[in-house]
Amino acid sequence: MLPLDRADVVVIGAGVSGLSTAWYLARAGKNVVVVDKGMIGGEASGRNGGMISERVDEPDLIPMAVESLELWKTLDDDLGYPTEFIHQGRLQVAVTEEEMGDLYSERDVAMRHGISVEVVDTAEIRDMIPGISDRVLGGTFFANGGHANPQRTVQAYAWAFQDLGGEIYQNTAVTGFRVAGGRVSAIETTAGVIETDVVVAAAGPQTGLLAEMVGAHVPVAPARVEILATAPLPPLFDIALVGNGLYGRQAARGNLLFGGGPHEWIDVDLTGEPGKPNTPLIRNIARRLAEMIPGVAEVPVIRSWGGVVEQCPDYMPIIDVLDSPSNYVVMTASAHGFGLTPATGKVVSDLSGLRLGRFAEVKPGWREERGWVAVS
Ligand SMILES: Cc1cc2nc3c(=O)[nH]c(=O)nc-3n(C[C@H](O)[C@H](O)[C@H](O)COP(=O)(O)OP(=O)(O)OC[C@H]3O[C@@H](n4cnc5c(N)ncnc54)[C@H](O)[C@@H]3O)c2cc1C
Repeated sequence: MLPLDRADVVVIGAGVSGLSTAWYLARAGKNVVVVDKGMIGGEASGRNGGMISERVDEPDLIPMAVESLELWKTLDDDLGYPTEFIHQGRLQVAVTEEEMGDLYSERDVAMRHGISVEVVDTAEIRDMIPGISDRVLGGTFFANGGHANPQRTVQAYAWAFQDLGGEIYQNTAVTGFRVAGGRVSAIETTAGVIETDVVVAAAGPQTGLLAEMVGAHVPVAPARVEILATAPLPPLFDIALVGNGLYGRQAARGNLLFGGGPHEWIDVDLTGEPGKPNTPLIRNIARRLAEMIPGVAEVPVIRSWGGVVEQCPDYMPIIDVLDSPSNYVVMTASAHGFGLTPATGKVVSDLSGLRLGRFAEVKPGWREERGWVAVS
């Protein structure tokens, strides 16, 4: 039996999206319950790369990403707990002329949006990243970029929410919805039923499966991506680093944490063990890291892990209320969820622009059409 069987709002998912939303709602005086089938931050939210940027690679996201970065600056104080947010900038490097061209294009986008960016030469890059490869041709530096510790961030949100009286029920899977008169009246879980006025479904890649239970289609595809951690090293750099198909940072304890991208992925079955790491991905990430910073080629990889991203066909989040049931809010971050989170949680009260209806014409196979590279 659950301690509470009624709430103003039930949030499904104790990842960053759900917890941030729950915290904003609790601050606004709502009685909020968060339920998760696993643990707080047990999925992508606790396993990601921690990168936070203005998203000049997805120009439609820039306003939300810029607002998010502003919110990150005071988030530790606002939550009352540390996220290990480091705000020293983000360096993007190119190893081919084509990539350099892409960086120039993104620089132009950034300048059009008033975002601080400078083109940096190889000498400046070597000052920022000791030991970086001679293959690097140049780069761009975004002074406002940063990174944070995903585990500490989810915990900070959870504690801050609980400080406001919020309840989080872990190991409590949502199994169904009771719908009456076009509205959800209660959610059914493995631990009991909770009546509610509003449901916020922030269930990451499972957001689509939950929506099917109320007869709605949410095109969110799961894909497994992975991260490696090296043995700890002396402090090398504190900026976020993107290049050679990688993104990463040096953790406070010295480990280099790098993930692969863009869009190199493994298809997953959400009913299995979707987060289990896969060696071809990790081998590619390790090879690229050694190419990019040859000085760390002999440093052992001591850990790796996987996580499942939730990707929408246009790479943009969905934050929308279904027509029916009319008190069911869909919230999925489309694989940008960590950096964007302070703003996505806030935006639940302003649902313009991210509505579900834009996917009416999307066909199966959209990931391949958009050039994602599946690794087998
Ligand atoms: C390896 C990796 C690296 C990444 N790197 C970055 C990065 O550097 N920067 C960035 O911005 N983003 C990054 N991302 C993406 C980012 O982590 C996600 O977009 C974000 O965490 C999504 O948060 P969420 O709360 O929406 O979903 P999730 O973290 O997936 O949380 C959803 C929660 O819902 C729960 N749930 C699902 N179904 C049910 C159910 N039926 N009942 C109850 N609970 C349920 C799950 O257990 C889970 O805890 C990365 C992701 C991965 C995996």
